[in-house]
Amino acid sequence: MKVTLEIDSSSGFCPGVVRAVRQAEEYLALHGSLNSLGPIVHNSLEIDRLKAKGLRIVDLDSLDNISGGMLLIRAHGEPPSTYAAAAARGITLIDCTCPVVLRLQKEVRKAFFRMENVGGTVVIFGKHGHAEVNGLVGQTEGDAVVIANADDISRVDFSKPIELFSQTTKDPVEYEMLADIMRSRGKDVTVHDTICAQVSTRHESLVNFARNHSMILFISGRQSSNGKVLFELCKSVNPRSWWIEEASQVDLAWIHEGDSIGICGATSTPSWQLEEAMATLSSILK
Ligand code: SF4
Repeated sequence: MKVTLEIDSSSGFCPGVVRAVRQAEEYLALHGSLNSLGPIVHNSLEIDRLKAKGLRIVDLDSLDNISGGMLLIRAHGEPPSTYAAAAARGITLIDCTCPVVLRLQKEVRKAFFRMENVGGTVVIFGKHGHAEVNGLVGQTEGDAVVIANADDISRVDFSKPIELFSQTTKDPVEYEMLADIMRSRGKDVTVHDTICAQVSTRHESLVNFARNHSMILFISGRQSSNGKVLFELCKSVNPRSWWIEEASQVDLAWIHEGDSIGICGATSTPSWQLEEAMATLSSILK
């Protein structure tokens, strides 16, 4: 079958994830094992690759089992309570919180004190229970209101000042839409521009990439919230977009003679996985 294949040059790990994976691999090369608080990246194949090198995924409930040991904090960051729990157990941290997330945590903390003084509310647009969102809510001692969509706005008290922040990986267009609704309902709503530049520029380039191909193969873990957002973006401009976790899930019935197939992924999709998909498809379709 005659088709062309192209990998999106802007896909692949974002700098925050690259940094966390590099630090984990450097430590593993020297010591052979390392605990990570939650999966370092929402991508099961990459996790399997790191587990083979000695990475162990642990959760907060099992910190007692690693007292005195090492623990990696992922790029998503953690709330202050996690640092306190680790310190109480003599655990040494390899803190891979992305510098962009760290800056956002500090901004949310300052906003919390401002809002505390005037009886206002810190509102965070993000996915309920997501590690980054938990880290941000922790900066407000649990006081922030998390909104995942326009319906959640009904839980916000607009009679008092509000400071609005976004999880770094949310859709910039959706954030702007929610911010507009909130501005129209409240007299004193401050909107902070906190979507990661890596994510917002990727949205623009991905839209062009998806438009310029007759079919899109989007590769990412199903747990990735950035993956969900970016896949929906591809689908909105190219209805022949398919979300897969690995090349073996491609159904050849999706592919038409003469297709120009674009291969892309989330900020949690490693480049090797995109290249592997390209190589697999090239050999199947030749
Ligand atoms: S998406 Fe941006 S903020 Fe989030 S980890 Fe990657 S570089 Fe950091």
